[in-house]
Amino acid sequence: MTNIIDGKSIAAKLRSRIANEVESLKQQGIHPGLAVILVGDDPASQVYVRSKGKQTKEAGMNSFEYRLADNTPQEALLELISKLNQDNSVNGILVQLPLPRHIDEEAIINAIAPQKDVDGFHPINIGLLSTGGKATIPCTPLGCLMMLKDQLGDLSGLKAVVLGRSNIVGKPMASLLIKENCTVTIAHSKTTCIEDECRQADILIAAVGKPELVKENWIKPGATIIDVGINRIKDTENNSKLVGDVDFINVSKKSGAITPVPGGVGPMTIACLLLNTLTITLRQNNLSIPKWIINQE
Ligand code: NAD
Repeated sequence: MTNIIDGKSIAAKLRSRIANEVESLKQQGIHPGLAVILVGDDPASQVYVRSKGKQTKEAGMNSFEYRLADNTPQEALLELISKLNQDNSVNGILVQLPLPRHIDEEAIINAIAPQKDVDGFHPINIGLLSTGGKATIPCTPLGCLMMLKDQLGDLSGLKAVVLGRSNIVGKPMASLLIKENCTVTIAHSKTTCIEDECRQADILIAAVGKPELVKENWIKPGATIIDVGINRIKDTENNSKLVGDVDFINVSKKSGAITPVPGGVGPMTIACLLLNTLTITLRQNNLSIPKWIINQE
């Protein structure tokens, strides 16, 4: 029987630890604050931003939301970021992606002060992650790693295959797993015989964006499967539903442990945003990072 990794409950425990830590910071006069900027009215982004704001407040932190019109000029967005970079009540800054097409995403990410870059997308943080320094780690891969460690403990020597090479999931995930002493393969849209690569994996991370791509015969028996994909499809009765990048029903007959979609990586991603806000607040105040905050020492 496969073990279903309950991202919702791991995330709830994490949020409660974060809230306790925030409470003790507030007693020292430090009130962590997260600024979230949304440009435009993309419905999925609106849902994410609402949820991020709600959970930030529930963790006892200040949430500052900026909702800008779709036609906001790039200059205006850069000015807002510059103001937030200098605002001491704001510890973390997040610009919800994707941005409208007239805005250069790279220029916006580069404008965020690296020490306030709560998403870990700034080139300085990406570089620090690759070199094993004090990086801010992108929330989704950090959440995946936490679930893996919760499930498997020490990952040393395990063979990991990461499907997908995006800057926000695949590449940082691979860097984190290397740091955990895994032997890591990154596979992507141009990889040949991808099934053969996957069959070697003790740990398989799927971050591709293709509904139910990973099949039962791609899996090594007993492997741990982390499904990052979020895909909206129609079921047989033409109702819309969410599925991952893994054929959950069949793969779960063979895997040792697997995350569901929804209820796996998604809740951990937002919990890790709160964790990153806490970590960067501690760093900005020259306070030590508690031992339970993994990979940030
Ligand atoms: P992306 O589109 O930037 O990258 C997709 C990657 O998949 C690319 O590197 C590409 O080479 C690879 N790929 C495409 N087709 C492939 C194939 N047939 N076989 C192997 N590799 C293939 O996507 P992303 O931003 O990394 O996101 C991936 C998925 O994860 C999406 O479904 C996204 O919605 C989801 N996601 C979920 C969360 C979460 O919190 N749960 C967070 C971020 C992304």
